[in-house]
Amino acid sequence: MGGKEPTYFLRARYLQAIQAAGGVPIVLPLDIARSQQALLLQRLDGLLVTGSGSDLSPRFYGESQHYPFKKMSEARAKMELGLSKLAFEQQVPTLGICGGMQSMNVALGGTLIQDIPAQIETKIQHLQKNSAENTVHPIHIEPKTLLRRVIKKSSIPVNSSHHQSVKTVPRSFQISAVASDGVIEAIEAESHPFWLGVQWHPEFLYRKDVLQKRLFSAFVKAARDYAKS
Ligand code: MN
Repeated sequence: MGGKEPTYFLRARYLQAIQAAGGVPIVLPLDIARSQQALLLQRLDGLLVTGSGSDLSPRFYGESQHYPFKKMSEARAKMELGLSKLAFEQQVPTLGICGGMQSMNVALGGTLIQDIPAQIETKIQHLQKNSAENTVHPIHIEPKTLLRRVIKKSSIPVNSSHHQSVKTVPRSFQISAVASDGVIEAIEAESHPFWLGVQWHPEFLYRKDVLQKRLFSAFVKAARDYAKS
């Protein structure tokens, strides 16, 4: 079945995490014209930008590709970048996970490290080999950030399933968590009611870890508040 037929694939755990936090998830189509992205966003109370197995083409942040990796489809990249930019401008609550965080960053002018093992000297295994239900390295959460207010801890263990990471953030963003090797693990924007990207995968951890569940609960609450306003 399928063959070359275009097919959407999304891990159900993203939807289950939103449902567990009291939200109603809707899966979005990918190939939508820019003009229709705005119409689509008008109908949403929040935007979850999910991770993926492929990476943004570096041309979206002004670089050529220096390392081998699978590039995200053009349609998906344009959808993620376009919707993220609109959600930032229109103050729509947005949570980005792994590659989703990277899209939120690039959408507003940030850049990425294309390959951590090649570009950063580190002993941390950011691309873990065991199941993402296990945590592999701690992160340090900056004080006075949205992430700190949500998690209420200065350090937590996280899973790690990425070979790319945020390199530079747009002027309007803050870095809200780093690993001990300096790799950026969370970004946010204080000018926005809820704009949070995390480099790890809370959807693999929330069932057993109440701190991770708070990310989804806070996002759903922000979406509810946005819907009322
Ligand atoms: Mn990591």
